[in-house]
Amino acid sequence: MKNVEDLVTGFRRFRSAYYGERRELVERLVRQGQAPKVMVVACSDSRVDPDIVTDCDPGDLFVVRNVANLVPPYEEGGGYHGTSAAIEFAVRCLHVEHVIVMGHARCGGIRALLGDIRFEDGAGQFITPWMSIAEQARREAVAEHAAENAESLAVACEQAAVRVSLGNLMSFPFVRAAVAAGQLRVHGWYFDLDHGELHGCDPDTGRFGLLAGGADGTGE
Ligand SMILES: [Zn+2]
Repeated sequence: MKNVEDLVTGFRRFRSAYYGERRELVERLVRQGQAPKVMVVACSDSRVDPDIVTDCDPGDLFVVRNVANLVPPYEEGGGYHGTSAAIEFAVRCLHVEHVIVMGHARCGGIRALLGDIRFEDGAGQFITPWMSIAEQARREAVAEHAAENAESLAVACEQAAVRVSLGNLMSFPFVRAAVAAGQLRVHGWYFDLDHGELHGCDPDTGRFGLLAGGADGTGE
């Protein structure tokens, strides 16, 4: 568990690594600007930092994190569309080649959607309507996995929510156009915290299969 002083100490280590040993990387990023090829939509959960999970460097990933790594549907009109703004910037300005929606095991947002976490003292004012984006995933998981234990139901809902987000991603006209032009690919990932495994969503079947991890430690 870290406190704020530890974070400042951590910054010193970061500075030593990237402004010392790897100075050329920082200089290039400063001089040329960022040019990430990959955007990741990840959960705010402290255990699923996409930069750490994928062992990336500064400049590699353009990341937006929110509760339960949800992509809202495309909407015109007002509102503070933070996630949509990040997707727009990544696809239309940075011209990323990949967008990855990375779900994960033991997601608190999904547990709230399933009613496993109940809010008290008025909390949930923002979380509940936000999680309604994944209502279709909840219904699907309950319909198909209600007879199983709570863990299986949660996994099914977490993975179904990734599929909902992938569908919503394609509701953005500029995403659809970039995919149709072969300039952009979208991916659904699922990080299994319990077993240290990364799973990928098959675009044809919607089922998740092992990408890396597994019994031999590589999944290859
Ligand atoms: Zn989460």
